[in-house]
Amino acid sequence: MCGIVGYIGEKQAKPILINGLLRLEYRGYDSAGIATIEKTGIKCIKNKGRVAELNNNSNINSLEGTIGIGHTRWATHGKPSSTNSHPHLDNSGNFAVVHNGIIENYADLRDFLKSHNYNFLSETDTEVIPNLIHFYYESSKSNSKNRFLQAVSNACKMLKGSYAIEVLSSYYPDNMVVVRKDSPLVIGKGFNENYISSDIPAILSFTKDFYLLNDNELAFMSRNSIEFYDENIKPIQKQAKNITWDAGSAEKDGYPDFMLKEINEQPKAIRETIGSRIAVNSKSVLPDLEINKTYLKSINKIFIVACGTAMHAGLSAKTIFENLCEIPVEVEAASEFRYRNPIINKKTLCLFITQSGETADTIAALKLAKSKGSKTIAVSNVVGSSISREADFTLYTHAGPEIAVASTKAYTSQIVLLAIIAINFAENLEINKEKSEELKKDILLLPSKIEEVLKNTDKIKNFAQKIYKEKDVFFIGRGIDYTVALEGSLKLKEISYIHSEAYPSGELKHGPIALIENNVTVVSILTNRLLVEKSVSNIQEVVTRGAKTFIVTNQELNHDFDEVIRIPKTNTLISPILSVIPLQILAYYISKEKGLDVDKPRNLAKSVTVE
Ligand code: GLU
Repeated sequence: MCGIVGYIGEKQAKPILINGLLRLEYRGYDSAGIATIEKTGIKCIKNKGRVAELNNNSNINSLEGTIGIGHTRWATHGKPSSTNSHPHLDNSGNFAVVHNGIIENYADLRDFLKSHNYNFLSETDTEVIPNLIHFYYESSKSNSKNRFLQAVSNACKMLKGSYAIEVLSSYYPDNMVVVRKDSPLVIGKGFNENYISSDIPAILSFTKDFYLLNDNELAFMSRNSIEFYDENIKPIQKQAKNITWDAGSAEKDGYPDFMLKEINEQPKAIRETIGSRIAVNSKSVLPDLEINKTYLKSINKIFIVACGTAMHAGLSAKTIFENLCEIPVEVEAASEFRYRNPIINKKTLCLFITQSGETADTIAALKLAKSKGSKTIAVSNVVGSSISREADFTLYTHAGPEIAVASTKAYTSQIVLLAIIAINFAENLEINKEKSEELKKDILLLPSKIEEVLKNTDKIKNFAQKIYKEKDVFFIGRGIDYTVALEGSLKLKEISYIHSEAYPSGELKHGPIALIENNVTVVSILTNRLLVEKSVSNIQEVVTRGAKTFIVTNQELNHDFDEVIRIPKTNTLISPILSVIPLQILAYYISKEKGLDVDKPRNLAKSVTVE
């Protein structure tokens, strides 16, 4: 799940490629490289390490070409090393390729190519691609531009797996070919120049007009033209989309890290996600969701399927849907769902959540549900992302680009959007009108309440300074608070590398309490009035065993705890949107105290486009 960029224009490509790669580094950062077309042919510079190291490479300034491709890698096949870094060249050195994805049948293809005397330098799956292109190029007699296009298309027909690919050829010094299947790729159109990227924000400062490639589509590009083709090289027409995000929203805006910026952007993200979708005393407006009462009445189960943080948003939403729509909801990790033959039929509605819209397991799970006859709804933050092309309906959170690997504003926006969908269903079903009206009022108040929660930042930072050297942290909560405990624990693990566990408070004494000893930190979330006493008893049980306590609550507590963060009261169903914020801030400052790279934690990448 790497980032790829490309430039074809009149300016020197190198600085544009480096700029794009720096913005795409959230997708992978174990090695980086660029290739350009020079007077002498293709020249490629790559190394292990971050894009900044590539930029400091003593040879990088020798790249003067105005056409180039770049890659920042998150290795899937072959350890991070300079040889395994992209771009990869074919044996003749006339084709260079950067690739995002996995070629599942690369071993067979290697054998095939070896039998035709091709050699391999790297351990990657990718290296088969430039060699296959060369193989097909050499097998063709044509002399037209189609020979290049046809060679790429033929090579792609041999590939099993996922790919977004950019190809340079020294035989075509004014062109580039790009193609994608199940991995993201966008093309930005400029004046006498064109751009390619894995995502829109990375090139938003250069252009606002974008073409989105569908699976198996190819583009043949020059400085002032882009021709689109289907997999059989039949020309197709595409309309550019004008993207209205401003480039600044993909910058740090004075914050030291994207994560802190994105935590603080939550009032805005939620305001925009609500938009004009709900208003008090009027029906919700979701034009993209054409689901009627007869259909909803026929539904006897909803599956919510997602990965990581998005799955935690789904767990919170389960309670909302069950409360408002009175339909049982099951929440499952996409990577499990897709391989266990779940019972799905026309009476099952399946909802998929993915910030990037590119999460490989979630997309595969959606395809499975669809093939079994279920209607599918996707919730995503990225317009035109892959999942939107598969789902029957796609609803977008309008959180703006989320760059930090650890998700914050996307998570809270997802819960808001899911709550709005649940309200919409309840309205269609003509049930729980009062509950829905109450919930709407509370959703509309969320942005200002989040601002209140953010005022606790310094207090939370102080607590982080006290516990950042801990080895283990426990998170507990009951009901919907438990779903927040799961998310708080994940956030801490992701960016601080501290081991943590989340447990339903009542489950502690069934095992994990054995791990509580003097000075272990236990984080508790307590927002449900009906469960206060029981939860406080659970907290007392760990205090008795010497634990330090960090409590996030909107209830009055008549006890002394080490740190209590008070958050505003709201409808219990959407309390995660407020109670998670102190946990995001806690994880952030613990990571900062440890001197870690908050935005780019080790071994992780922003959108998991591999399985
Ligand atoms: N599978 C390729 C590799 O390991 C590309 C991985 C990626 O998408 O970052 O080099």
